[in-house]
Amino acid sequence: MARRSFIVPASVHGYAHAITAWTARTGGSQVTDLLDVDGNATSVLSGATDPLLFSGPADSTGTLWLQMGDRYLTPRRKVTADDWPTADGSAAYATAQHGAAPVGAVCFTWDDGFASHYSTVYALAQQLGQKHTFNVVAGLVGTANYMTSAQIAEISAAGHEIANHSQTHIDMTTASAAQRLIEMDTAQANIDAIIGAGKTTTFTYPLGKRNATTDSELWLRYKRYLLTSTGWSARLTPVTPNRKTMRAVPRFSLDGSTAHQSQAMELIRRASVEPIVVSFYSHDLGAGGSATVAQVQALMNYAASLGVPCLRVDQAFPAEPLLIDGGFEDASLTYWQTTASDGSQIAESVADTPATNLNGSRSLHLKTTTDTSFVYVTQQVPLVPGTKYTISGRTRVAIASGAGGLLFRVRECDALGNQITAPSWTLTATSWNQYGATTNFTADPAACVGYVDVLLNNVTAEAWIDHLDFAPTYEGVFG
Ligand SMILES: [Zn+2]
Repeated sequence: MARRSFIVPASVHGYAHAITAWTARTGGSQVTDLLDVDGNATSVLSGATDPLLFSGPADSTGTLWLQMGDRYLTPRRKVTADDWPTADGSAAYATAQHGAAPVGAVCFTWDDGFASHYSTVYALAQQLGQKHTFNVVAGLVGTANYMTSAQIAEISAAGHEIANHSQTHIDMTTASAAQRLIEMDTAQANIDAIIGAGKTTTFTYPLGKRNATTDSELWLRYKRYLLTSTGWSARLTPVTPNRKTMRAVPRFSLDGSTAHQSQAMELIRRASVEPIVVSFYSHDLGAGGSATVAQVQALMNYAASLGVPCLRVDQAFPAEPLLIDGGFEDASLTYWQTTASDGSQIAESVADTPATNLNGSRSLHLKTTTDTSFVYVTQQVPLVPGTKYTISGRTRVAIASGAGGLLFRVRECDALGNQITAPSWTLTATSWNQYGATTNFTADPAACVGYVDVLLNNVTAEAWIDHLDFAPTYEGVFG
């Protein structure tokens, strides 16, 4: 029987224990012909950090439900096409993520919003069933040789990704702070006006120019950023099961040269047999420094003939942040758990911000009333043993008295929930300061889950915290 595969990302199944698949095709009863990735029958147990993969008969598509023994998610959540898209090849890529088959993926990305992207790339992608990423410069939309708003809206509606490639295509590292806001936010508002709000999660740096300041400003606005490269290096990204927070995406330039075309063909061939993602970019097809129409058609057709999934960048690199609401923008702190020595201690979201260009308008405010009081907010994160993590963010503290202070703390726990160790860092700055350079640790060999705490302890004090990030150290410091 033909079978189709489905992926359940860890961000969906969370820390569920028993996950059972159901289907409406037999009146909502549990199906017994679903298998987990190991071929075992339906009631599967999943690790806290791994995506769960299972397959079922082809006739069950679209009517699957999941029963999750889960304290965070609603049971019997209906599966939608958005959860586990398969028609565009995402399922095949998901299989590769889980290590079940050595198959990679290709990301075609197109910079600046040229008219040729609509007439050539989009037209062929629709024929081949591929999904691409189009990096639009908002200020060029509708001008000569660039796509119109209607064309961009059509591409978005067809399921391709539209990314923000800035308002004026300026070098972000030399632009003023005020100008950078225009490139990030005004451009985004203009793109939202074309395709609808909330669809853009990728920022493509103009000219590939970035630094730590611009990365930090992108954080909490976007989930990933695209880079440029011109050589044979920085051309591919390994598919690794636990790497969920990839943010910087290297790309290989399709510059029209015969050498790069040959190298690009070879990269696509490798993605058909290895678990790698290769990402390409080019500009106006046929113009200087860009691939020709014939070259692009050859690459797209080659990927199709080999059966390599061509995915949007936001599909290949989901980059879901490990902490939810690290900006404390939710006024009721819905995603944070508060613990205090007594009811007089305060943890609240208040209107405050460390710097004008950081995203959001609110911060966390902690207040303790005696020298032996404490208050902290907590969120759980999955930990991979042996991985080095960084907790970063902006803080300031005003201490009246007491021997303690303001801390970041991570309580590392084993698979049974027993605490192993709890590294912490004291944050002493009295005006807004960024921490992240030294606030890191390597997860214990038995670590499974971490409790990330922001703690005001054993002081009479007030503190303000914002722009928190928790991620593997190799991702960089974004908080
Ligand atoms: Zn560009």
